[in-house]
Amino acid sequence: MSALDDLLTCLRFASVSTDFKYHADTRACAEWLVSKLTGMGLTTTLHETPGHPVIVAKNKHLAGRRTVLLYAHYDVQPVEPLAEWLSPPFEPTIRDGRIYCRGATDNKGQLIAHVSGLAETLAEHGDLPVNLTILFEGEEEIGSPNLKPFLQEHREELACDLVAISDTGMVGEGVGTFTYGLRGIACMEVKVHGPTIDLHSGIFGGAVANPATMAARLVSTLHDAEGRVLIPGFYDGVRDLQEWERSSWAELGDGAAETLALTGVPALFGEAGYTERECRWARPTAEVNGIGGGYQGEGSKTVIPREAFFKLSFRLVPDQNPQTRPHGQFLSDGPSLPLRSGGAAGFAGHFWG
Ligand SMILES: [Zn+2]
Repeated sequence: MSALDDLLTCLRFASVSTDFKYHADTRACAEWLVSKLTGMGLTTTLHETPGHPVIVAKNKHLAGRRTVLLYAHYDVQPVEPLAEWLSPPFEPTIRDGRIYCRGATDNKGQLIAHVSGLAETLAEHGDLPVNLTILFEGEEEIGSPNLKPFLQEHREELACDLVAISDTGMVGEGVGTFTYGLRGIACMEVKVHGPTIDLHSGIFGGAVANPATMAARLVSTLHDAEGRVLIPGFYDGVRDLQEWERSSWAELGDGAAETLALTGVPALFGEAGYTERECRWARPTAEVNGIGGGYQGEGSKTVIPREAFFKLSFRLVPDQNPQTRPHGQFLSDGPSLPLRSGGAAGFAGHFWG
């Protein structure tokens, strides 16, 4: 089997971890990987979890050698909307020298690249220069709910000197890329409460604050006109970009044109003083991922909604810690709303990530 055959085989498994109807396919993918790794001479175990299996494979660990743990995931994102696919999502199709299939770039392509490299080295030399521990999971796309307990339970067995993770991308075609950090995330949902029930805008409008308006006002205070996040203390812990980072990223050329082409936006918007790459790779962000409240149906309805909401996510960078900001102080620099004062608009939020 060539590496390409292996990749195509792996891609054909519809290993969508979030959807129960793909349960058997996800398991079949795990079992195929186990047989592949076993066939390479690695001692391979499929560990059951309350969700999808974790696979651990090892060569013979010898004293005096470094231990490398290789992580990847074999599950993939859902495929909907199906109508947007030019070819069936689980039938790998090669167009213009690229493979199109769900999971090809996240993370089966990289996973098979590692496996193929290991298979060749093992076939040629019979062993590797290091102690290898492979850890493949099937729940990355759903937040790895069973990985943490698994790691805790198998702490000794998984001990290593180095972890290699390739669940990342490349800067460009043919540009060897070493990803040495990723931004973290904290998510938040904010609900703005107003009246105890939906109100008629003709009867009460003008006399009570509208939660949808207040939600919009809060959101509008997140950034200044130059793209800086205005939350007090947001940049306090942020570690500055190092000079070697700025210069080596600059050597990659300007990423702006590519981002314009990929996104279809007419112009870039970013934090003043930073290049497009610096904004995407190293600066913390605040994004609105959803906003809503009130009537969403056809036509109009004369309502002042009882509540409105918005969902935020923050990309976090080294030395930033969401836990250090008291919840209540969040956004406190905005227009002076009577937060939790029993007045026109209340505020509640919580972190989950
Ligand atoms: Zn991934």
